[in-house]
Amino acid sequence: MSVKIAVFEMFLARLRRRNEPYPAPVQWTFLRVVVAMKVTLIPVTPFQQNCSIVVCESTRRAVVVDPGGDIERIIGEVERQGVSVEKILLTHGHLDHCGGAKALADHYGVKIEGPHRDDAFWIDQLPEQMQRFGFSGAQAFTPERWLEDGESVEFGDETLEVYHCPGHTPGHVIFFSRAHRVAFVGDVLFAGSIGRTDFPRGNHADLIRAIREKLWPLGDDVTFVPGHGPASTFGDERRTNPYVGDGVPA
Ligand SMILES: [Zn+2]
Ligand SMILES: [Zn+2]
Repeated sequence: MSVKIAVFEMFLARLRRRNEPYPAPVQWTFLRVVVAMKVTLIPVTPFQQNCSIVVCESTRRAVVVDPGGDIERIIGEVERQGVSVEKILLTHGHLDHCGGAKALADHYGVKIEGPHRDDAFWIDQLPEQMQRFGFSGAQAFTPERWLEDGESVEFGDETLEVYHCPGHTPGHVIFFSRAHRVAFVGDVLFAGSIGRTDFPRGNHADLIRAIREKLWPLGDDVTFVPGHGPASTFGDERRTNPYVGDGVPA
């Protein structure tokens, strides 16, 4: 589209030149080139949680979203791609999403950002969660940065917007790249389903409200990576999701 505008402006400038005795104003249109962002999903833990390695291709800097465990596999993939991990991002405090966060942060010497402070009680319980599910290696920690609705996180040349989406857990956040139209939504929304709300401080009404008021406005074209299972788009879920689609009464 910008190319068309540039051609049109050149045409206008030529018309103007015919009637003007002095040189027409010079105008430049700069095309904004959006560099590529690469997403690699690695299912981790017995829960097959989608850990994402998200790479800014212009700087080869990366974030790891929700390293729930199996960190050797994550490290192996990071090495294979030859990128440098800048930070670790967490959507919420459940074991399968953040069980490997501390070990991975220590390995790379990087900070952990997210989730929202209201999930601190989940992260504090990591050792108990671990015992209950027979995991090994999960360590409790305090993120260097708790995230709030409306904030953003940066890595390389990329920006991810943060939205607080409580319901599955009270401190659940999602990450959204406006430039690349992709969202990392953890256990808020799945292809054909929604997050469980039968955990302590879960809330079904909050979850539905968060999906409708925070996710849908980002756009039907947005592809989302859920915490488990295949990716989908917000538009497809609005049409077909039996729990939160547009045809489901509020
Ligand atoms: Zn969860
Ligand atoms: Zn999960």
